[in-house]
Amino acid sequence: MDDSTKQIVGFELMQVSQASSSVAMEPLGFRKGLEKILNEGIDVKVITTDRHPSIRKIMREEYPHIIHQFDPWHVAKGFKKKMVAASNRRECKDLAPWVRSVSNHMWWSCCTSKGDAKELLRRWMSLQHHITGVHRWEENGTEYRCFHQDLSAQEQRTKRWLNVNSPSFKALKSMMMDTRLLKDLQQMTLFKHTGQLEVFHNALLKYCPKRLHFQYPAMKARNMLAIMDHNENHSTDREQASTAAGDPRTNVVFKKQSQQWVSVPIYTETTQMFRDDLMERVLKRRLDPSVKFKATSSHIQVPHLSANIASVPKPSKEEAIQSHTSRFKGPSEKE
Ligand SMILES: [Zn+2]
Repeated sequence: MDDSTKQIVGFELMQVSQASSSVAMEPLGFRKGLEKILNEGIDVKVITTDRHPSIRKIMREEYPHIIHQFDPWHVAKGFKKKMVAASNRRECKDLAPWVRSVSNHMWWSCCTSKGDAKELLRRWMSLQHHITGVHRWEENGTEYRCFHQDLSAQEQRTKRWLNVNSPSFKALKSMMMDTRLLKDLQQMTLFKHTGQLEVFHNALLKYCPKRLHFQYPAMKARNMLAIMDHNENHSTDREQASTAAGDPRTNVVFKKQSQQWVSVPIYTETTQMFRDDLMERVLKRRLDPSVKFKATSSHIQVPHLSANIASVPKPSKEEAIQSHTSRFKGPSEKE
């Protein structure tokens, strides 16, 4: 998905039999898809993915010139979960009122650091001072301060600051200074998101329901239809619906995770104009006397696939029946 337009510009369909396992499919498909885009001459500057270790390795070793970013939403969500779990312990219950602001602080650190990893870490780690009620501090001879406005005496008195020696503070500090987290944060400096891709994966289920089995060509064609549908309806220029008076339409919904009512925009109805366009092009092609049709040819290239996804060879029907009946009758024969 192109980040600026939210249009899907390429896809790879893999069958599990093409890789050694379903886990191994991801790096295989990723590399293939990226190569295809690069071979088209598209200049890829930044790629945002999840934190899958094998993708990290591919990016680090094979594409060091492309910036690799992670979605802050996933990382912030994971951190929030850890903090909630810690605050459920009796000795760390003072963390509970801070969960939301710490998560917001992570977002803020990512979205304001403008690509500077060092600055992002400095902003994130300033939390260890602020949360104890200290808003100016010294580090290696340099004086730093929080970015927020000065707090009133009343605010400074009533906020539930953590004591530096409390188990809550120690638990939080060890979570926020976790080396893996600090490493991940350095790849979140551009504040890139993958949420729109999840919207697509959800919509893909309409064309490829998981309960139905499709052969490779059908699966590929269905993916293509889903992409055309997405590109027509979910790019960045989709408009918010408006009322008769011309005001933007919104809906108020209850969010389960935050336990809050929030206002969400209502978009204009989706359209399926691509279908008309597709049918018209099929008919035009059919009527074109210069195009020769062969009933057996397929326009979808199918890679060489094994007949099934089994990891061991299929037994003969007789063998299968025999092993089934011997297993089934086994215990009764012993009686
Ligand atoms: Zn502060």
